[in-house]
Amino acid sequence: MANLTKDFFIGLSNNRVLNESAKKWGFRMGAEKFVAGTNMDSVADTVHELNRRGICCTLDHLGEFVTEKEEALEAKEECIHILEKIHADELDCHLSVKLTKLGLDIDESFCIENMKELLAVAEQYGIFINIDMEDYSHYQQTIDVLQLLRKDYENVGTVVQSYLFRTQNDLEGLKDVRLRLVKGAYKESPDVAYHDKKAIDENFLSIAKQRLLGDAFTSIATHDHFIISELKDFVKEHQIDKDTFEFQMLYGFRNDLQFALAEEGYNFCTYIPFGTDWFGYFMRRLAERPQNMNLVLKDTFYTKDNKLKKEPLIAGGLAAGTLLLMLGRKKKVK
Ligand SMILES: Cc1cc2nc3c(=O)[nH]c(=O)nc-3n(C[C@H](O)[C@H](O)[C@H](O)COP(=O)(O)OP(=O)(O)OC[C@H]3O[C@@H](n4cnc5c(N)ncnc54)[C@H](O)[C@@H]3O)c2cc1C
Repeated sequence: MANLTKDFFIGLSNNRVLNESAKKWGFRMGAEKFVAGTNMDSVADTVHELNRRGICCTLDHLGEFVTEKEEALEAKEECIHILEKIHADELDCHLSVKLTKLGLDIDESFCIENMKELLAVAEQYGIFINIDMEDYSHYQQTIDVLQLLRKDYENVGTVVQSYLFRTQNDLEGLKDVRLRLVKGAYKESPDVAYHDKKAIDENFLSIAKQRLLGDAFTSIATHDHFIISELKDFVKEHQIDKDTFEFQMLYGFRNDLQFALAEEGYNFCTYIPFGTDWFGYFMRRLAERPQNMNLVLKDTFYTKDNKLKKEPLIAGGLAAGTLLLMLGRKKKVK
């Protein structure tokens, strides 16, 4: 049942019609709890507020399914605007990007040129750029592009996923790279990825410990308090310098734990997604934690003052429509 629910939401996250429609809807279904705003100016206030609490941030301007060069160029311009705002407002903040948004699926060399332009601006302002890891079909290309960019730029890193079998083997080649470690958010084949939570968690801990004992900076990105607690003990036991790593969590998740870790003196970074293209990101978060469905139902059927909305049938129709779209789809989930 848990797998069916996960497949359902991952399927929705890949549905282009719904992703396109959602851009016009504005935030719905409680998405604003996990997506910080639609533009950089409103998000800058959120970053200021978190910085005031000793938390740094990484910004992700959301976007899915970029198939035209024009869209990729717009995305690059938006990223430059974000970098300029970070610099002008002296925010303690860096940038997270997805290579597909900068044109990877259109033309690799075009994407590399876009990345080089971004890295040059970021370097001038002393800002780091992290390349998010997408699904496995983009994995090798992402690593190859990263290694190529690192020949000219130091201010770039990427993400490794503990659900992939190959991550352990790839660590040696990435030992000098600043990395974010995550469990992995996409639906992958059992040929390449663990599906068992225990195996994914054990691999996460093993990779985290290897990285913590190494030299390069690591962002430990998880909401899992068991993992965080074990790694805190490991850091104490091995007297690891707190400035060689940070914890990261997503905006809107476990705020109490985020603030507590920062107050305990750990470096902490909140990943802040924003923009109108929120649907795919939001669906992946529902896939991870179906408990978040409570939010969707509440937001769909009730007003802010807890009254039943006048058009619940429309909302219900929307939910049923998405379900039918899903059932009608041929298998294409990633
Ligand atoms: C900062 C950041 C960046 C990321 N970047 C990427 C990326 O580039 N590529 C990618 O594939 N994935 C990325 N992810 C997503 C990641 O791969 C996981 O899908 C996601 O983080 C869920 O796994 P988890 O480690 O948080 O723990 P889970 O396995 O989801 O949860 C483990 C346990 O933690 C507790 N828990 C979790 N969430 C909550 C909550 N909200 N409230 C209370 N308890 C909770 C529960 O006890 C749960 O059983 C990122 C995640 C983060 C935090």
